[in-house]
Amino acid sequence: MLPNQMNDICPIEAREGAIAILNTLRGEGFETYFAGGCVRDRLLSKAPTEYDIATAARPDDIKTIFPKAKSVGEAFGVMLVRSHNNMYDIATFRSDGPYSDHRHPDQVQFSDAQHDAARRDFTINGLFEDPIEEKIIDYVGGTADMDDRIIRAIGDPIKRIEEDHLRMLRAIRFSARFEFSIESETGNAIRELSMELAGVSRERIGEEVKKMLTDPNRGVAAWEIQYLGLDRVIFAEESCMNAPTRVGRLPCNASYATALASWILDRHTSETDLLSKASHWRSQLLLSNKVHDEVCEILSLHQKLFSWSTLGTATQKRTVASEHCMSALAIIQAEDRPLFVHIHRGISLLERTGISPERLIDGNDLLKSGIPPSPTIGDVLETVYDAQLEGSINTYEDAISLALAIYREFQDS
Ligand code: ATP
Ligand code: MG
Repeated sequence: MLPNQMNDICPIEAREGAIAILNTLRGEGFETYFAGGCVRDRLLSKAPTEYDIATAARPDDIKTIFPKAKSVGEAFGVMLVRSHNNMYDIATFRSDGPYSDHRHPDQVQFSDAQHDAARRDFTINGLFEDPIEEKIIDYVGGTADMDDRIIRAIGDPIKRIEEDHLRMLRAIRFSARFEFSIESETGNAIRELSMELAGVSRERIGEEVKKMLTDPNRGVAAWEIQYLGLDRVIFAEESCMNAPTRVGRLPCNASYATALASWILDRHTSETDLLSKASHWRSQLLLSNKVHDEVCEILSLHQKLFSWSTLGTATQKRTVASEHCMSALAIIQAEDRPLFVHIHRGISLLERTGISPERLIDGNDLLKSGIPPSPTIGDVLETVYDAQLEGSINTYEDAISLALAIYREFQDS
């Protein structure tokens, strides 16, 4: 029997829309089920992110039954159909032919539900659900593995991973996300074939790593990647057995960039040029400029926070006001609790006098006070703002006279 709290854990319309499609296909005489991730997620009492429908109907049948169906991979028998304002993938039951590129089958053959289950990657992803009869159809031992919390390749793990090398990362992603262990033969096959990941595009590797590092169980994924030797290919770096403790202790909602910066710190404890590591990871994972810049910013802020007590008040305030300071602080919290508490107290004290108070003067005020436009104006303003942050000036008049004094000093030097 399926858990009956389904309606509480996923939007009803998404399920209703999928049931409507399933009933229509069945009404035309085609065996049809929910398939893959949505069945697994429901058994885990998690809200499915999407409903995939598997059917005996061929793409031509689907087009006839749903004239607005769009083909998203007709060669693979996948059609996209709208129902109840949601889009659904409807895939014809199939068997996959050989995978000569180690990513995609060269060709597929339409077949039946049992073969369709067998071509899927892991037993927990090979289940079908009949939502009308409220039954799970299990050709691959997936329900037992769900109970035992195991990620197991369907069939011979070596063969299945050789077919599609990306499955190595998928195994780790599902294992970390659901806190399932990777069955030993599947794990051994991953370790044995780990270097083959090099044949998978950087884009797909980057996507998988991003999915893992944005999940709260990112620490488990990082550990498994290293333990199974995939880090050598993912980062093109020596294998590393440093425990990814910072990654593992981040708050659940930590950003992708925060997780990457943490992992760089975990892996490169004695490295001084961490920014060059970030740039190397950018090309390995095809990071966007935005994420890469955020990683660099977090690493720099982290370094500053580490020497918190030696920073002056103005630098402390400027550091705390930086956009990504809280991300850097989350890493400190993960690695050095006493330092985190010390900084946290320090921030509370700084807040009393304002972390980023409005500036007492701006460029116009300087012009009005007789300082001509020049590139030094910016430096004068920043130095005056530092004094304001330190608390050594508090009024407009103080700020102007300090600005004039600094300007004269700049001119004399
Ligand atoms: P997620 O919640 O991350 O989307 P999912 O299981 O739905 O997980 P998808 O990538 O959306 O994963 O794929 C849907 C289904 O298609 C999987 O459950 C699995 O049955 C099958 N599948 C996906 N990718 C592969 C693959 N590389 N090899 C074999 N089967 C796959
Ligand atoms: Mg999915």
